[in-house]
Amino acid sequence: MSPGDAADGRSAAAGAPTVAVVGGGQLARMMAEPAAALGIPLRLLAEAPGVSAAQVIPDHDVGDYTDLATLQALVAGCRVVTFDHEHVPTGHLHVLEEEGIAVRPGPGALVHAQDKLVMRAALAALGAPVPRFRAVSDAEEVADFGLPCVLKTSRGGYDGKGVWFVGTPEECAPAFDAAAATGSRILAEERVDFRRELSALVARSPSGQAAAYPVVESVQRDGICHEVVAPAPSLSDGLATQAQELALRIARELDVTGILAVELFETVDDRILVNELAMRPHNTGHWTQDGAVTSQFENHLRAVLDLPLGSPVARAPWTVMVNILGGPSDSGGLLYDGYPHALARDPRLRVHLYGKAPRPGRKVGHVNAYGDDLQECLERARHAAAWFAGELGDESE
Ligand code: ADP
Repeated sequence: MSPGDAADGRSAAAGAPTVAVVGGGQLARMMAEPAAALGIPLRLLAEAPGVSAAQVIPDHDVGDYTDLATLQALVAGCRVVTFDHEHVPTGHLHVLEEEGIAVRPGPGALVHAQDKLVMRAALAALGAPVPRFRAVSDAEEVADFGLPCVLKTSRGGYDGKGVWFVGTPEECAPAFDAAAATGSRILAEERVDFRRELSALVARSPSGQAAAYPVVESVQRDGICHEVVAPAPSLSDGLATQAQELALRIARELDVTGILAVELFETVDDRILVNELAMRPHNTGHWTQDGAVTSQFENHLRAVLDLPLGSPVARAPWTVMVNILGGPSDSGGLLYDGYPHALARDPRLRVHLYGKAPRPGRKVGHVNAYGDDLQECLERARHAAAWFAGELGDESE
């Protein structure tokens, strides 16, 4: 056995600490690339055999992240544990911390990404700009708050699931039914008249170093991120700086370690309001893989290990990221079969596929196109994503 091999088959690269990652989705998968480059072993807890990250991280267990013993087995011998998603019960994370493992982000921070009511209340207490909101328990309280408005489950929502736009008391029933079924609370929120959605991404390490990426525009459809343009076109320097400073302040005040994504609304009257927080690499940061000096995935790893952070500066004037979503048809799109056309048409295109079977609306990959001309980048990235999704047919040539 050569140095660096471990008797139990676990990775033991020369002197490098092992990072445990909970969750086998594409975010963990994309951490594997910089981890390999940096020689940092990852140990993964996957939900099921063969999921996206389990395909590329050989050192993995399959188990239930809500089970404390499973988490304890995962982190044994690791220096730090981090996450592909925000759903690990914070009670378990407190136990892991007490047992001496560094949990990054820690449970005290993570709860703000798990529970929208906790997040809104904490941000309001910090004086951060947030939409007007209130916890509500029935349609009468919603009417009292003011209709029309937006109802959200405080926990468990994602990609627009758990968000209801309501205009009448009768329309509130599905939200309260869903909350009753899941034991979640409901918050009512003013319906923000926004020009567009922005995202401010920062990395922060335990020793307090922080790096702010350029603020991007994200285009959502039906609650799912479709397209990201970096930097956000025509964003005033004033608002861009405000957004970056706000994200840095939130990361510091909530003691976030790793990547923090602050999803923002740019209102029609030129203000920014915080919509959501994510404490992990985020879809609005995928452009950094090819468009920034240091990707969000690498900076996440550096941050959770308290290594010096890499430059977040853009490599090109523009980078456009477009998600590849599973199409409505049974064909499921082209994916691997899309390579000959997509790669020949655009040798500068960067493609990231997640090893996921296409299902309607499922994020199965993304493309990045960077360059000097925004319209050209948009055309290249949109074409490629549509092609992989099987939306173009033969006439695309
Ligand atoms: P999720 O947790 O499912 O991503 P979000 O809170 O981000 O849910 O909401 C999903 C989308 O719904 C947002 O990206 C935005 O387009 C829209 N939305 C959310 N809250 C509001 C609001 N208060 N006013 C207007 N639109 C909203």
